[in-house]
Amino acid sequence: MHSETSWYCYFRKEVVPIHQATVNTACQTMQYGSSCFSGIRGYYRDGKVRLFRLKDHYERLMSGSKILGFGFYMEYENFEKVILDLLAVNNPKQDFYIRPCIFTEDESLGPRFDVPIFDIAVYMIPLNNYYEPNKGLRMMISSWRKISDAAISVKAKAGGAYLNSSLATTEAKSCGYDEALLLDQNGSVTEGSASNILIEYQGTVFTPPIGADVLDGITLRTVVDLLRSEGITVRYEPIDRSMVYSCNEIILTGTAAQVSFASSVDSREINPKSGGGPGPLCRKLRKMFDD
Ligand code: PMP
Repeated sequence: MHSETSWYCYFRKEVVPIHQATVNTACQTMQYGSSCFSGIRGYYRDGKVRLFRLKDHYERLMSGSKILGFGFYMEYENFEKVILDLLAVNNPKQDFYIRPCIFTEDESLGPRFDVPIFDIAVYMIPLNNYYEPNKGLRMMISSWRKISDAAISVKAKAGGAYLNSSLATTEAKSCGYDEALLLDQNGSVTEGSASNILIEYQGTVFTPPIGADVLDGITLRTVVDLLRSEGITVRYEPIDRSMVYSCNEIILTGTAAQVSFASSVDSREINPKSGGGPGPLCRKLRKMFDD
């Protein structure tokens, strides 16, 4: 395996060392955040590499390009080949993360998407746990509201839309918390900065409706399927702030976050009986997820 800084990436239709994959500062992706991206987990287990739901990530990425009108499309077979070529050259021997990104090098001044040069770049990095697995996240309800899909697609994983996540996490960390929880314009709970949320409230598992300014999370879909396969009811319903403060457990799901949990929100302890560790729902989910 190459060292992290020398992992190869896919850029301008070639496999090149990452330091060669650079764009002009004037390009629209750099100036306006004109991109959409994906994040895929790779696991290294028993000497073999396994990718988590590659096709689902591909489909969401192409859907993002379509929603935003980028005019970029790639067949699954070609996408998969790029990933396999990168795996062959980087030869990872630990868990890792793959980041495909559709971007433009167009240098025209006015922000617009109907430019002909959208392309895909893909890089990989080693990644173990993004959050400490046995330490609950201390979350803060952000003073920044979640962007509405009426303003920027929240389903496309658009680069520029992540300014919203950056504002929220930066604020949370500067206030001494680990993560932000974002409410929508009406005060309903949406998601974390890069994770979906589920809560166990009065014996039922709730997650916000998919149409409620949240990303259609691939880890969330997996977790909901796992819970339902165990006969546990999951309801896609609006969640308000009081439900979050008074629920029994908070689970965060995401490619980076995997199955994580919150130990407090705005300094109100969640599930104190677990002594700061994961609660029963989180433990059950992690076990099912690992299997
Ligand atoms: N919400 C947001 C805003 C995200 O960036 C992510 C990470 N992709 C998620 C939720 C979780 O989605 P997934 O499980 O598909 O990674």
